[in-house]
Amino acid sequence: MYQRDFMQQAIDQAKMNLTTNEGGPFGCVIVKDGREIAAAHNRVLAGHDATAHGEVEAIRAAGAQLGTHDLSGCELYTSAMPCPMCLSAIIWANIQVVYYGNSAQDAAAIGFRDAAIYDFIDHGLQGDTLTLSQHDRELTLPTFEAYAAQSKQLY
Ligand SMILES: [Zn+2]
Repeated sequence: MYQRDFMQQAIDQAKMNLTTNEGGPFGCVIVKDGREIAAAHNRVLAGHDATAHGEVEAIRAAGAQLGTHDLSGCELYTSAMPCPMCLSAIIWANIQVVYYGNSAQDAAAIGFRDAAIYDFIDHGLQGDTLTLSQHDRELTLPTFEAYAAQSKQLY
């Protein structure tokens, strides 16, 4: 169930970047059983890491805290609608509840590209954003087949 206190903590994380300049104004908190597991903010600039969005940073911290990549049962509070990368990370982590504040359009209004990425996906991965093409599947597929044959862990 949504609790404003956790959203306020996500906002507080986002606000840190108004003075620290570690990245954009995005903060995130991960909660399990009503208890905060991790809090983080965007650190793209500080770490020279384009993937260091608040949600990804919080997922990494929560996984380390709980000792598992599987964050089933956790809820994620984020100061803005997750971008497609973070949305995917949230799904990979098995988080099933997300509460967000600002919309993708709000992010676009201050110059961030979230909405453009959603448009690229909506248009079947076609457009000027990225050239995506498949090559040499016959060379890459055997590793998949060998992995499947070993019945290794899926996640
Ligand atoms: Zn993101």
